Amino acid sequence: MPADTVAATSVTKDIHAWEAGAAESAEALAAWVDARLAAHEAALTALLAVEEPRTPANSLRLYDAAIEHLSLAGAQAGILNSVAAGKAVRDQAQLEAQRVAMAASALSLNRPVYDALAAINLDGASPATRHFVERTLLGYRLAGVDKDEATREHLQSLNEKATRLALEFSRNIQEGAKTIEATPGELAGLPEDYLARHPAKKDEATGQQRVTLTTDQPDMQPVMTFAASAALRERMFLAYNTRAYPANKQILLDLLATRQEVASILGFRSWADLATADQMMESAANVRAFLAKLDEASRQGARREHQQVLEFARRRQPGLTAIDITSRGYWYEQFRRDAFDFDSQSVRPYFPYDKVEAGVLDTAARLFKVEFRPSSAPAWHPAVSVYEVFEEGRLAGRFYLDMHPREGKDKWFSAAPVTTGVRGRYLPEAALICNFPGGEPGDPGLMQYSDVVTFFHEFGHLMHAILGGQTEWAGISGFATEGDFIEVPSQMLEEFFRDEKLLQAFARHYQTGETLPSALIRAMKKAGSFGRADWMRSQLYYTTLSLDLHDREPGGIDLDAITRQLYQSLQPWTWLEGNRMYASFGHLTGYSSNYYTYAFDKVIALDFFAQFDPADLLGCEAGARYRKMVLEQGGSKPGREMVRDFLGRDEEFSAFTSWLNEEFASTAGALGQ
Ligand SMILES: [Zn+2]
Repeated sequence: MPADTVAATSVTKDIHAWEAGAAESAEALAAWVDARLAAHEAALTALLAVEEPRTPANSLRLYDAAIEHLSLAGAQAGILNSVAAGKAVRDQAQLEAQRVAMAASALSLNRPVYDALAAINLDGASPATRHFVERTLLGYRLAGVDKDEATREHLQSLNEKATRLALEFSRNIQEGAKTIEATPGELAGLPEDYLARHPAKKDEATGQQRVTLTTDQPDMQPVMTFAASAALRERMFLAYNTRAYPANKQILLDLLATRQEVASILGFRSWADLATADQMMESAANVRAFLAKLDEASRQGARREHQQVLEFARRRQPGLTAIDITSRGYWYEQFRRDAFDFDSQSVRPYFPYDKVEAGVLDTAARLFKVEFRPSSAPAWHPAVSVYEVFEEGRLAGRFYLDMHPREGKDKWFSAAPVTTGVRGRYLPEAALICNFPGGEPGDPGLMQYSDVVTFFHEFGHLMHAILGGQTEWAGISGFATEGDFIEVPSQMLEEFFRDEKLLQAFARHYQTGETLPSALIRAMKKAGSFGRADWMRSQLYYTTLSLDLHDREPGGIDLDAITRQLYQSLQPWTWLEGNRMYASFGHLTGYSSNYYTYAFDKVIALDFFAQFDPADLLGCEAGARYRKMVLEQGGSKPGREMVRDFLGRDEEFSAFTSWLNEEFASTAGALGQ
């Protein structure tokens, strides 16, 4: 075993909460977090006790250890909050996540620590080390470390309030799943396997046959795409978009007010200005300028797409005057079937979950020249599969796939760090928490192509955490880029899904074993490229909403009016009264004003992808260069520099604009977020 492996694995003791029984017991979880926070405090105490002239070796190393313990505790409490089977553990995990956030906030306002870091002599330090220290000091100043003690205490209490509100907001969405009832007739249009999973039962009171559907993705998305019944789609839409309503309405208003107060104390006009100050975007004004370009680039195409779909729908349903927000996905699907001879259900039998998983792993392995081996390492639930990442025989990382819905589990799709990697010290580990079809005995888990794209997306994050997790410091490892660079690696990997050769390497019919036919792929790509501009405008809607809510005085905000007016100004589809999408717009907690990240990073990702040789996506030199200059860097340098290193210039809109007008869209955008 090479020395690195020994070093990386020898410190793995106690770093998994679930190995301490924390997935089953609230007490075990609390004790495990206690131990991490104690180690965090001990490292800070040692840092402040250093008497010699400060160097990276005698001071930054201790600060970095403090960060590592905090991120271990935060990451794993966060995961257990999303996945633990028992409510008691999830409740405890929420408390622990809050406790960790408070420790992070206290650290960000800790003047003696700031002074210690500012005193480090960086002569002869590597550029990455220098960047780490400079970025950390900037973060301290933005947090308010140079304010007087009373103000810092007030900031700490505001941070505490904001953290608590954000966690409550997320939990309400996670646990707000609703069910609706349907008659068997209303399920017309839905796929066979969907019907098989949802048998009708006799209602004892009325004697009528009834089907129960949940608002979970595998139940909800097919209804919005395939169900012929407008009444059913509307009921599903309203249930889905009121999951956390009314509870989250006041929570969101309080959160916005708290964030604005923090921004004011720190001398910023708005929260959006504060939240962008250390990002690639730098200010709310720059975000607005970017959004104006996005508006310009997508307006004409979206108008054309809407017109085509509306004309088609009118031919099918004479008398129809407009298409509403609950029917957009359905009519898109019908239009694609007709115009491109493509039925999105026709590809599902070629995408059974297991084949897709194998295909995504194989694609990533070949692109990044690594090997994945199943591992028997423990995880938080028997449904989780664990893999280890090997590079030239060396253990380089580990990841956890928790891919199907479970009761009480978070309903969304995400990649989360587990252990922040540090070269020679900590093995990078990350997890995917998803809600794809399948996972039940006998259910092949037939995926829509938008599901497969999502899988590639999340796996892009995973590889960023692992390949970027070999840095010298935890503070610049993996995801530690500017927040508005983080969706570049994920959206980059999405593009690989469009490649015919690559798809045929894994897409096989779950019953016959037949390879996904080329003609079907071509039809799928053509159909998929229709609606891109319109989809981008729904992103523009979410993005502008996220910015607007955080770029004004929050007193007197009318959430219903803002979400409706904005929708009507940016979207041609009819708004539905009773839509409370803001109450379940989960990204408002994590991204706050910075949801623009997706669109901004899409522009960068498409420019990056255009550097790859379409004839040899997995073997061309761009792959190795991308890995080295972007992924492996983690947060070792500013995103702006990584863009210039890889492209030899700043990003341009041209690849994005031609992608937008190539006639593409993903049905994943049907309900947004
Ligand atoms: Zn993402």
